[in-house]
Amino acid sequence: MALPQFTHTLDILGRTVGVVIQTHPTSKKLSLRLIAGEDAVKVVSPPHCPEREILDFVVRQKDWIADRLNQQPDKKSYQAGDIIPILGREHKIIRIDPINNNTRTKGSAWLKSEQLFIKSHPEHLPRRVKDFLKKEVRYEINLRAQEKATSIDKKITAIRLKDTTSRWGSCSTQGNLNFSWRLIFAPEEVLDYVVAHEVAHLEHMNHSAAFWTLVDQLTHARIWSQKWLKSNGSILLSYS
Ligand SMILES: [Zn+2]
Repeated sequence: MALPQFTHTLDILGRTVGVVIQTHPTSKKLSLRLIAGEDAVKVVSPPHCPEREILDFVVRQKDWIADRLNQQPDKKSYQAGDIIPILGREHKIIRIDPINNNTRTKGSAWLKSEQLFIKSHPEHLPRRVKDFLKKEVRYEINLRAQEKATSIDKKITAIRLKDTTSRWGSCSTQGNLNFSWRLIFAPEEVLDYVVAHEVAHLEHMNHSAAFWTLVDQLTHARIWSQKWLKSNGSILLSYS
């Protein structure tokens, strides 16, 4: 007997994820798994479970789905000669051999004229690039967040970098701000908007009109940034 199937799509951070629902006569509760090699999930549902409830279930698993999709292979790694966006501007990765060079005073990684120089053995290069990107984004976020918080007389308890791929930033009632390190690949305006958004939550723990007015006070390109994230979010997720 052919089982009824419905196909839906959900937007998970700019990535379109397909949902296949399969009703199973003996299943007792909803279960979910990734469909191998595809940006899609399959939900197995007990008979007569309302479609609405099934889709709500999928939405609640957003973090899990995004993390899993993110772990799938075909991620872009970081090799010598690769071009990667840093704050939206393309940079070429240049590897400097740590043994045969006399640039010791320059440290282990630096940016110059649209190039990212990394002093590293070939096998450690991807890891060193990623470490550098995280350090850069931490610096950019801290600077902006502190400045914006001070301007509205608020205190930040802590700022953390995360790799949860279902949200670019979050703010807790205790004043902890979390950001995705992947914002380093986004244009500067977008990073600034996400920081402004979370800092504004220190004042308004909601998305009221007053909240958006404050966001606009703290950043300049809110609408453009929101659109950019919606259509380009998957680019940020495509790096390992
Ligand atoms: Zn928010």
